[in-house]
Amino acid sequence: MQSAMLTSLDQLKFDNRFVAQLPADPLTGGQPRQVYKSCYSHVCTTPVKQATLIAYSPEVASDLNLSPEVCRSQVFAETFVGNQTLVGMQPYAMCYGGHQFGNWAGQLGDGRAINLGEVIVKEGGHLALQLKGAGLTPYSRTADGLAVLRSSIREFLCSEAMYHLGVPTTRALSLVLTGEEVVRDMFYDGNPRYEPTAVVCRTAPSFIRFGNFQILSSRGEIDELKQLVDFTITNEFPHLGEPCKAVYLQWFQEVSERTADMVAHWMRVGFVHGVMNTDNLSILGLTIDYGPYGWLEDYDPGWTPNTTDAQGKRYCYANQPKIAQWNLYQLANAIVPLIGETEGLEALLQDFAQYYQHNWLNILASKVGFEHYNDETDNALLEELLELLPLVETDMTIFYRNLANLKRDKTYNDENLLAVIFDAYYQPDSHGEEYKTRITKWLRLYQARIAALDVNDAQRKARMNKVNPKYVLRNYIAQQAIDKAHEGDYSVVNELLDVMRKPYDDQPQFEHYAAKRPEWARVKAGCSMLSCSS
Ligand code: AMP
Ligand code: MG
Repeated sequence: MQSAMLTSLDQLKFDNRFVAQLPADPLTGGQPRQVYKSCYSHVCTTPVKQATLIAYSPEVASDLNLSPEVCRSQVFAETFVGNQTLVGMQPYAMCYGGHQFGNWAGQLGDGRAINLGEVIVKEGGHLALQLKGAGLTPYSRTADGLAVLRSSIREFLCSEAMYHLGVPTTRALSLVLTGEEVVRDMFYDGNPRYEPTAVVCRTAPSFIRFGNFQILSSRGEIDELKQLVDFTITNEFPHLGEPCKAVYLQWFQEVSERTADMVAHWMRVGFVHGVMNTDNLSILGLTIDYGPYGWLEDYDPGWTPNTTDAQGKRYCYANQPKIAQWNLYQLANAIVPLIGETEGLEALLQDFAQYYQHNWLNILASKVGFEHYNDETDNALLEELLELLPLVETDMTIFYRNLANLKRDKTYNDENLLAVIFDAYYQPDSHGEEYKTRITKWLRLYQARIAALDVNDAQRKARMNKVNPKYVLRNYIAQQAIDKAHEGDYSVVNELLDVMRKPYDDQPQFEHYAAKRPEWARVKAGCSMLSCSS
């Protein structure tokens, strides 16, 4: 337990449970290899030329009890770029497998993530620290273990933005430039170029993914699988009690519910993960691995930000709940050997859809200002809304924010009604009469429904503005921060970090960060589509 603010990084107290309690790869060094009967390999970070701090999260620093002075020190930058190791750190890379785009890919592992250790935090819990982009590990396969600046900025900003939006997520302590460059072919189109690299220090109570269990199970390493499951339950789900078959089922149920809750939040804020492979699903139900993710701007349920997914659209916005369930199915398969029968797991997988739907309908109802979803009064109204949104290009974030301004007042004429949501439209001139009639009719039905609520217009607006953010990390805005950073100017990164700390507040001086995507960004790389190249 640490209470007073730390004046030096050396005062961080480590308790490396993962390393202490789980089987290690007997080999050391970064040589690519298959690692059997082990949960991790000891590794070393690769030193870099010039560590320069770009940004850090004051909230995560505070969770770790680190003062602003410590965070701004050169020692901090050197530590969280991987140039030096603190006493108590035991760097390691995790072994995991995964289904990528629906196919079993075998061993993957932390190819460019290096865990430093688990810090004991002031609330008495643990926070694992992990560097992303700090060099080769046995799991790097043919890649280099590095992360370019653009993808590091995207990971750093988005994980903090998601936290402040109330979405379960891994966090980011720091973003440090390495002073080095690496060649990347951003769009796999034969145009490689040098890009600066950076390291993000991520934090989470645990970085265990579905794939950590899958790899052991796929190899029939059942003793190790049991160790990992028991370890996870004992350390991360202690309220479930002593691990046993019944507890394994309760644990699976909790993982399912947390995963469903996480995805429902994604749907609420318009986040599309982009690579929901089983190696990218956290066992704690945290959003993890910010790669080619994106934010819905015009509401298009079939939109995927990931160019690799452009054909199949497996990971598009609307598919996320059912892909989560598919991934849970794979996790269930992995733990069957510990339970000995499938009925219990199958029943829980069936429950997922209902659990998610119930949760989602309540969230959707809250987005339009209702306290709870009521099937009788809300079903047709909400279904029609979800049909209307994609009919014409409608900015999801602006739509819900502006809808909160509609009053129950019956004197609105059609023009006034449409004016309330007009800002959300990308191409208002193209709207046909049929659409205009339908949306106007919907707005009138909605007015009638809100007239029956037990809250007035101002209260309803306040309620809606708590679940409908004004600021999300729009794709083109993150790209602006990246473009500036490539010129050596990190002010936009830091300004965005600040704006995203209060995503539900009106921040008049930052109105431009709430603006809908400008036309130039429609087809610009990084703004409308992203690749896995990072
Ligand atoms: P991702 O699609 O980012 O979740 O990564 C899938 C797998 O590829 C994971 O095992 C990563 O560690 C690995 N990987 C991705 N990029 C790199 C890289 N630059 N160097 C080494 N491994 C990587
Ligand atoms: Mg990953």
